[in-house]
Amino acid sequence: MKKKYIPHAEIPVVEHCNLNCKLCNSHAYLVHNSTYPFEQFKKDVDVLSAHVHFGLITFMGGEPLLCTNLEEYIRYARAHKLAGVYRILTNGLLLKKMSPALLSSIDVLEISHYPEMKETVEELRSFVKPLAKKYGFVYYIKDIGYFNEIDTVSISDKEAKEGYEKCTRISYGCSIFNGYYYKCMRPKTTNLYLEKVHGIKLEHDLRKTDGIEISEDNFAQRLDNYLNSTTMLESCKYCLMGLEQDNSFCQRFKSLAYKKGWIVKLYYKYSFLYNGYKKIKKQVEYDEGAHTKDSLYVKTQTHKVLGNKGLKNQSLTGNESFTS
Ligand code: SF4
Repeated sequence: MKKKYIPHAEIPVVEHCNLNCKLCNSHAYLVHNSTYPFEQFKKDVDVLSAHVHFGLITFMGGEPLLCTNLEEYIRYARAHKLAGVYRILTNGLLLKKMSPALLSSIDVLEISHYPEMKETVEELRSFVKPLAKKYGFVYYIKDIGYFNEIDTVSISDKEAKEGYEKCTRISYGCSIFNGYYYKCMRPKTTNLYLEKVHGIKLEHDLRKTDGIEISEDNFAQRLDNYLNSTTMLESCKYCLMGLEQDNSFCQRFKSLAYKKGWIVKLYYKYSFLYNGYKKIKKQVEYDEGAHTKDSLYVKTQTHKVLGNKGLKNQSLTGNESFTS
């Protein structure tokens, strides 16, 4: 049976984090301790690998390096040929704790460098570069100065539907967590966000109603129905991501890169391509994330990671230095 090709899967192995960023798109600042149980992960991979092939899997969080047996997850997925490229996306604070087994299990290490880290990007690079050479992975360090706020409780159903229809998340990716397949990462924590931040309790648990259960019968048929459905997710009513997306040449280039596993590998290996892409992107957007649209609600609220008076709890709860 021919497997369905999906460009990208995000797999949050833990939902909690050692940073406490108020605008985290995954709401990790609201989660204290939540792990994707390894036994459930194995059951999910057994089903998924029979029907689906991913171009790229990103093991992420929360902070994925808080997962003490992360290499087992990666090796299990790799043994089942679930994807072409295996990547870890980390904030880098626990880099020194990465074991040789973990370092040798990956193809790509992407580090989000936040301003809180004591080391500069260059210092981080000089630490990672020899490891990359020794263990045979490629790395990319992304300097993060901003979070785009994508949480909302104030868009109309019409705007939410428009966002869903434009959202590239669902055209090139998905999120897998704890027995469920989702079109994006939002259903996982939207209930939590609404309840904890706005005191809104929804009738449905979006973890169940916005995704499909992997282990139920006829996964392949249900996946087709789910992916072809034009009905928006309930989570889209609380998300600005689709509405904020542009359809520029750069965005299409990025989508293309994600659609081909081998391009993703090159994309990281030759990071000048990515830097070039970012430069072009800057030319067409006057500020990262600040896209001008017709509706006021659609304007991205872009905030500096630190130093914005409007941010609360924008503090570290972990170790600020990866070398200590
Ligand atoms: S919830 Fe957000 S990220 Fe997910 S499909 Fe809807 S608009 Fe896209």
